[in-house]
Amino acid sequence: MKIKKRDPEVYRAIKKEEERENTTLEMIASENYAPAEILEASGSCMTDKYAEGYPGKRYYGGCENVDTVETLAIERAKKLFGCEHANVQPHSGSQANIAAYLALLKIGAKIMGMDLSCGGHLTHGHPLNFSGRNFKIIPYGVRKEDQLIDYSEVKEIAMREKPDLIVTGASAYPAKIDFEKFSEIASSCGALLLADIAHIAGLVAAGLHPDPVPYCDVVTTTTHKTLRGPRGGMIMCREKYAADIDRSVFPGNQGGPLMHVIAAKAVCFKNALADDFKNYASGVAENARALAEALKSQGVTLVTGGTETHLLLLDLRPLGITGKEAEALLQAAGIIANKNSIPYDPEKPLVTSGLRLGTPALTTRGMGVREMELIALLITDIIKKKDDKTVLYAAGEVKKLCRKFPLKR
Ligand code: PLP
Repeated sequence: MKIKKRDPEVYRAIKKEEERENTTLEMIASENYAPAEILEASGSCMTDKYAEGYPGKRYYGGCENVDTVETLAIERAKKLFGCEHANVQPHSGSQANIAAYLALLKIGAKIMGMDLSCGGHLTHGHPLNFSGRNFKIIPYGVRKEDQLIDYSEVKEIAMREKPDLIVTGASAYPAKIDFEKFSEIASSCGALLLADIAHIAGLVAAGLHPDPVPYCDVVTTTTHKTLRGPRGGMIMCREKYAADIDRSVFPGNQGGPLMHVIAAKAVCFKNALADDFKNYASGVAENARALAEALKSQGVTLVTGGTETHLLLLDLRPLGITGKEAEALLQAAGIIANKNSIPYDPEKPLVTSGLRLGTPALTTRGMGVREMELIALLITDIIKKKDDKTVLYAAGEVKKLCRKFPLKR
């Protein structure tokens, strides 16, 4: 690697990150390990190229090769998700949402989105986010008793508030989302419907989660979570919104697209179209269910009572430990997860009463149900006992697991 000589400080940090990824259990639900071909594409010379515009209609010369990869990415995305139009240029999931909102709405319009505290994302209406600052936000949440979306309550709010856009999708909701029901609600109140499938895109692509495409005007996603691609975003929509979406991404909200990342998105979609991606995604869901069952058998309370996706949310209140404390203790043992608010959380967002766990990265590493059962025991021991001896023992077990399942790109 040339960087070793030319910038040893950055080189060392990258090497240490490689080491960290190899020697810890990555259980952050929004993370994954990108395969070598994705790293190669996103580390390629396509980073050099300015390509404002779209394939065949660029504002710069020399775009023939980047046109090839963007066209491949678009065509593969359309095949993978069965959508009429795909824009692969958003730099991130947040950029995809900004561009989609501004394509469909005027500033000040009413957006109904899931509250962050109930599992929604910042871009679904948080007061400090562009969404909450530029649109009138009507939040909806989940039922207190079972932490599930109450579709009749969503309908009641929608009929009363008459939003211009309903946003469905979440960052920390372990159950499946019924997009058909959302579409019935949106048509009854005259709203447009956007599904943000950033988290579940890989499950949707594999047919393991209800498909939003037939029911939504626009679908946004990230490519780096369950889809296992490069860090980035994408917007899919019906043909009638295509021109508005494209204009909103460029020139509306972005300049030159990240062509190296778009090349990697094309590779990601090819991988997700292959038969073995279905096996991978089934493994992710099966592992999440196994982890949930094993945690429950140890007396751990789970938000919604379990999982139907790739993620779980632990309600730590009965164990007398906060999300912040649990995250730190687990990290000391090499188990990487994140504190997360639970619905109606009495703790502040930087403390929280919850812990979010996901299985996409461990499944990429080749781990299965037996490993999930072992990891569930390590986690429960740590968060129940909270002592150095338990953490030390777990750290040893984590090292063994990492050696047994080396990270192969
Ligand atoms: N939408 C949802 C549901 C998410 O969970 C996330 C990220 O976690 C995003 C959007 C934003 O993606 P990004 O971090 O790429 O901006």
